[in-house]
Amino acid sequence: MTAAPILELRGIRRRFGGVLALDGLDLAVRRGTVTALVGPNGAGKSTAFQVISGVIRPDAGQVLLEGADITGRRPDRITAAGLVRSFQLARGIPRLTVLENLMLYGQAQPGEAVAAALFRPGAVRRREDALRERAQAVAARLNLTRVLDNPAAALSGGQKKLLEIGRALMAEPRLLLLDEPVAGVNPVLAAEIAARIAQLRDEGMTVLVVEHHMDFVAALCDPVIVMAAGRRLAEGRFQAIAADARVQEAYMGR
Ligand code: ADP
Ligand code: MG
Repeated sequence: MTAAPILELRGIRRRFGGVLALDGLDLAVRRGTVTALVGPNGAGKSTAFQVISGVIRPDAGQVLLEGADITGRRPDRITAAGLVRSFQLARGIPRLTVLENLMLYGQAQPGEAVAAALFRPGAVRRREDALRERAQAVAARLNLTRVLDNPAAALSGGQKKLLEIGRALMAEPRLLLLDEPVAGVNPVLAAEIAARIAQLRDEGMTVLVVEHHMDFVAALCDPVIVMAAGRRLAEGRFQAIAADARVQEAYMGR
């Protein structure tokens, strides 16, 4: 008995000029997993992430989220449907505090807020209190409570990565997409980030992660999906994947 996957890609193709970046990509992400997407440079991982999050449209194929076809939907609609990707902090506001950064990413539509302020001032304060409580809860899950009032720019590299994840969590995802969550982070902090992601998974979150650090992938991710030349080449537990001759060849041949 297998539950329906939370995310499914069927036959995704995407061409950039003469380059076939995705060449019939099929993959499924099971609920409650931390699934890794790995593969040599140019395999199509970033393009796959952009197709999944709605940033680019595929030329052919389907993206299904919880069984619903979301192919070609706008990124904000996909976020609202429960699929949220983390963004690098450089795109956030480094002078704001950690708390403010988190609250900013949990905001309702600005128009709604203005209407509420004019007609129901009490509701605005209650909404802001609720938003602050939600931000505090997210910070606690990521061990950022001590630095809530620090400017984001003053955080350590590992804390910045955790804040990136926290901002995505403010959108209350059911599927979280992480693009290189430990890039540029030392091994001790990478282990801390892995532990926090494992905890999110244990609380019921599903995570799809692109990451080049194989220690991190080995310790955290199951299954591991290997892409090469725009397709899924192999899938399984890290040990099995690492021992697969086709996978070794794909990495050697880049
Ligand atoms: P990965 O993230 O696995 O390294 P990418 O998805 O970035 O792979 O790239 C897959 C292929 O598509 C590569 O050959 C890359 O050069 C090409 N590609 C990706 N994005 C573009 C683009 N915007 N314009 C042209 N070629 C692109
Ligand atoms: Mg890439």
